[in-house]
Amino acid sequence: KNTTNETLLKELSEIDRLHHIHPSTNPKFHRDNGPKLVFKEGKGIYLYDLKGEEYIDGVSMLWNVNLGHGNKELAEAAYEQMSSIAYASAFYGYANESTARLAKKVASLTPGDLNTVFFTSGGSESNDTAFKLSRFYWELKGYKNKKKIISLRRGYHGVTVAAQRATGIEVYRNFSGSLDPNIVNAKPHLTECEQGDKNHPEYEGSIHSIIEKEGAENIAAVIMEPIQGAGGVHIPPEGYLEAVRKLCSENNIHLILDEVICGFGRTGKMFGADNWNIVPDLITFAKGITSGYSQLGGVAMTDEIGNTIAQYDGMLPHGFTYSGHPTACAVGLKNIEILERDNLVQHAVEMGEVLRQGFEYLEGKYSFFTKGRNVGLLGGFDLMRSPEENIPFEESVKAAVTLVDECFQRNLLIRPFDFEPGMNIVAVAPPLIIEKDEVEKIIAI
Ligand code: PLP
Repeated sequence: KNTTNETLLKELSEIDRLHHIHPSTNPKFHRDNGPKLVFKEGKGIYLYDLKGEEYIDGVSMLWNVNLGHGNKELAEAAYEQMSSIAYASAFYGYANESTARLAKKVASLTPGDLNTVFFTSGGSESNDTAFKLSRFYWELKGYKNKKKIISLRRGYHGVTVAAQRATGIEVYRNFSGSLDPNIVNAKPHLTECEQGDKNHPEYEGSIHSIIEKEGAENIAAVIMEPIQGAGGVHIPPEGYLEAVRKLCSENNIHLILDEVICGFGRTGKMFGADNWNIVPDLITFAKGITSGYSQLGGVAMTDEIGNTIAQYDGMLPHGFTYSGHPTACAVGLKNIEILERDNLVQHAVEMGEVLRQGFEYLEGKYSFFTKGRNVGLLGGFDLMRSPEENIPFEESVKAAVTLVDECFQRNLLIRPFDFEPGMNIVAVAPPLIIEKDEVEKIIAI
């Protein structure tokens, strides 16, 4: 069996090396060396490669495999749907059972009166869609100039041209020259500034100051993640989301919460917004709705937006071939059924507490380990040369990458972030089905 795997590994590595450009990967390194590993299968929080190594999936792959790997119920839901009608278009008013039922289910779970859903196939498409629907709503209401979108530095919203520009991580934001001038980055997480403190030293560049400068009549929406994920797991300070919600309401500007990571239980609440009792105007979601078993995303919107668009008496010129894909929606329905049946959102709170204790332990044990933080099972920490004196590692010291490589050698997959000088952040976000001894294993490694 091992010989078969070895031959297969060699063959697949060579094919992949020569024919596949990987996302978020060094292309030259890959072309020269081939893939880091070739996955064979997964079960729960564990992944197995063709060499027979067992890895703990400490970040749920891309923060999305919330129910863990190898879930047969999800596979069966996909099989059943594929066997009856795998794909049906949602264009031209065609409906089908799984898509209709999932729209209602999502509406019942989102906060406030976000009762209408537009489906996409992922997070980036959802954010582009939210920008378009927000701008279209304002157009329908007679505000022809409300086009600008404000997003946050360190925010990550995806890689389609608009979502890329909303992203506040320079390496992604500027890739291949996407220069949409209607999308502006603001400084993140400045509660007092957003409350209107114009004397604050950081005021210039805050959302409040941008609204003042650009004029609310030119701004459609503010977009942000409830907790910034790929920017380095940044939890907003107290009162921040409430202040932004108020600021948007007062200025007739939509608040879009990008719940692509937070949505569907990751933070120990169904949506990240529920941690602060915030009701945004639009929510974008993806990842956790299917636990990554199928490609699905979407935008949920308030009755005000949904009903306004629903009164537009023309063809809505927006939609993806896979908007409301029946198989993806059947998987989404089953995924939510399991989340609820097995109380996994509450379980994420309990496992989040074990993770928090683990971070606390590590902080006490290692001088370089600092700022352990988590909300539910969305966690991260910083590495610094001297946390007490707030001294980062020298730029030449790739501390986060080194630590993550070392964890990889010990069969734990986690993720480093070091896209700014001196930044050494590591994310930990295991599947929601993880058990106490497994969280402790991650901490031990
Ligand atoms: N928004 C957030 C918060 C994300 O984390 C991601 C992906 O990581 C996206 C949007 C983009 O989603 P996708 O990669 O499905 O297009």
